[in-house]
Amino acid sequence: MPEVTSQEPAIDGWFATDEAGSAHLIGSKCPECGTYVFPPRENNCPNPGCASDTLESVALSTRGTLWSYTENRYPPPPPYPAPDPFEPFAIAAVELAHEGLIVLGKVVEGTLAADLKVGMEMELTTMPLFTDDDGVQRMVHAWKVA
Ligand SMILES: [Zn+2]
Repeated sequence: MPEVTSQEPAIDGWFATDEAGSAHLIGSKCPECGTYVFPPRENNCPNPGCASDTLESVALSTRGTLWSYTENRYPPPPPYPAPDPFEPFAIAAVELAHEGLIVLGKVVEGTLAADLKVGMEMELTTMPLFTDDDGVQRMVHAWKVA
């Protein structure tokens, strides 16, 4: 694995990190009906009763409630990157009460399904997904127990 020289999001525009190092997700909100969307997009309000075709970028809550979770014990098939040797990891579906959204994400290393319970408070963070051939560590949003 190449030496890490910098960090970049694996997908641009899904989260931002403030000067103190705290991460928040970037979602979209309909200015007409208030419906939130994640991942963010610029148009097409998902509310079938709303005709708005403009969505605004907003910061989402950094804490939510664990709605469901699972544990992935097998590496994904190529072309998806997976560490070798593969380590099992948990995936959490976290409900953001204010936004009425459920956001999927990996759970930080060291926390597996046995450590999780529906209803727990979870907090957003980021974690490396993989390091590319240029030494850029690609980061994704992740959940940790609050
Ligand atoms: Zn709307």
